[in-house]
Amino acid sequence: MPELPEAESVVRGLRAHLPRGGIESVEVAHGDLIRGDVDAFRRELMGRRLDRVLRRGKNVVLALDPEAFLVVNLGMTGRLVPRRPSAHGDEPTHPGVIFRLQDGHRLVYHDPRRFGSLELHDPASFRVWSERLGPEPLDRAFTARRLADLLSRSRAPIRSWLLDQRRVAGVGNIYANEALHRAGIHPRRPAGELTMEETKALHRGLRAILRSAVAEGGTTLRDFRDPAGKEGRFRDALRVYGREGRPCPRCGAPVRREVFGGRSAFLCPGCQPPPRAPGFTPR
Ligand SMILES: [Zn+2]
Repeated sequence: MPELPEAESVVRGLRAHLPRGGIESVEVAHGDLIRGDVDAFRRELMGRRLDRVLRRGKNVVLALDPEAFLVVNLGMTGRLVPRRPSAHGDEPTHPGVIFRLQDGHRLVYHDPRRFGSLELHDPASFRVWSERLGPEPLDRAFTARRLADLLSRSRAPIRSWLLDQRRVAGVGNIYANEALHRAGIHPRRPAGELTMEETKALHRGLRAILRSAVAEGGTTLRDFRDPAGKEGRFRDALRVYGREGRPCPRCGAPVRREVFGGRSAFLCPGCQPPPRAPGFTPR
């Protein structure tokens, strides 16, 4: 499932090739992809121009002119594919929504499994939507101090805390597990019990891993492709995610998988000591 680095590589790929003509027609092949009324969605988009591409958390946001915001959640297999007027061959095999522009370009939302969604906002509802998400972990304002404040009141296991988009935006299971391994923190540790040293290590680890993954175009485990059809190259840099039984690159202990909160957690028992049992007070 695309996380922040994958959404960012989609955004960067689209920026380079975004067709900018006004929208002439919107073909919705699968209405279940649209949040809200499909006819209103098509009507509201007509005549607007694709202006800018933004990212918020794991979502790709197409800013339109006159001002409106099309939020695209890529789900598991969603892709945004720009097509030039002269393009032929290699048509997307599962077009869900096709935006036809006045200059002959098309922007195709392709999604074989259809877990993605498209949601159109006016500026006011976009602000409300965006404010429901937590801070962007790569923003300058996201400091270790800020992270400590956010963590302080939560009893949730830190891995679940990181996955909650209302706490921090854009982190999914791959990068949550990798950041916790780098910081030497067990995924089940209660968020509010991390020490300042651990919080700093997590802050450093999370930002470092997200930055490197962005630089490598994200992680492709199976389906992810950028708008040019390229896979992310970060998979080889993963240290624990999907590596059950294989040696931890830091200490050599076999990576362990534990399922909680309905998701697999991957951890190194050597580098990430388990939480203390409740009621146990060290002397
Ligand atoms: Zn280890």
